[in-house]
Amino acid sequence: MRSAALYQYSLEMDSMVILRNQRLQQREGFFVELKDGDRQGWGEIAPLPEFSAETLEQAQAAAQQWLQAWIAGDNSVSGDAAFDNLPPSVAFGLSAACMELNGGLSNEGEYRVAPLCSGDPDDLVVTLNQQEGEKVAKIKVGMYEAVRDGMVANMFIDAIPDIRLRLDANRQWTPLKAQQFAKYVRPENRGGIAFLEEPCQTPADSLAFAAETGIAIAWDETLRDEGFELKAEPGLAAIVIKPTLIGSIARCQALVAQAHDLGLTAVISSSLESSLGLNQLARLAKSLTPEVIPGLDTMQLFRQQVTPTWPGCELPVVAEHQLVWQG
Ligand SMILES: [Mg+2]
Repeated sequence: MRSAALYQYSLEMDSMVILRNQRLQQREGFFVELKDGDRQGWGEIAPLPEFSAETLEQAQAAAQQWLQAWIAGDNSVSGDAAFDNLPPSVAFGLSAACMELNGGLSNEGEYRVAPLCSGDPDDLVVTLNQQEGEKVAKIKVGMYEAVRDGMVANMFIDAIPDIRLRLDANRQWTPLKAQQFAKYVRPENRGGIAFLEEPCQTPADSLAFAAETGIAIAWDETLRDEGFELKAEPGLAAIVIKPTLIGSIARCQALVAQAHDLGLTAVISSSLESSLGLNQLARLAKSLTPEVIPGLDTMQLFRQQVTPTWPGCELPVVAEHQLVWQG
């Protein structure tokens, strides 16, 4: 006997969260609950404004239609290929709920995160120097002067010799700006950059940048370009997989396998999911990309969390969510 419910949530964000052209004051999305006999699974469906093509309304409609069929006992909807017909955020949330219901999602999570430098770089240097083991940090670049970004990256590598910096320019730079950045990272320091995500507006310019500077790059936005196929390219070190934007867990799994076959690092990363989705991403990372620290340091951008809470996070918990559909 199957049943399901869809809840809508709304969580307050930190006042500083800006997504491309808008300030994100509330993070909104859905939690889906599947029940089959005494088994249960949860998932999160949360299209990311400015990044997801689907709206909340479209995601809700697609989810409800899927849930109807699933409750009616149609097992074809939970086949790997069937999820590919759904908007990515819906495919991710529903496939995660199915996987949890079937006991396929690891109970153990990878809760080490790549700390995100969102404030004073000096504070992060102190934190990293106190950290045991692999020292990974993520810095958003491309928002201010490229020269300043280059100086900050150089400063981090000078201050923490074994650091593996992950930089993300979100396709903000022209080739000239990218060159200005590179000029301020001393050649002997460039190896301290594990990768720089999407330096330039086009993949071709980003690859040219990697060839000219010796700075390794990673694909994030490019993975979602129409017709894109993953290939090994000189200077390409990694791919950043955001399941909410990519789709079902099976699809993410296939991308990880493809990356590994090509000798690339795959990094599971968040799209500002709530603590429920973030916990599932940590569990997914533990099984799909062991050894790699996932990009999940996004709870600091929230003012509220949900159950399950994020380890070590003290934010207040919102326990009630609006039931929008059940069957
Ligand atoms: Mg990115």
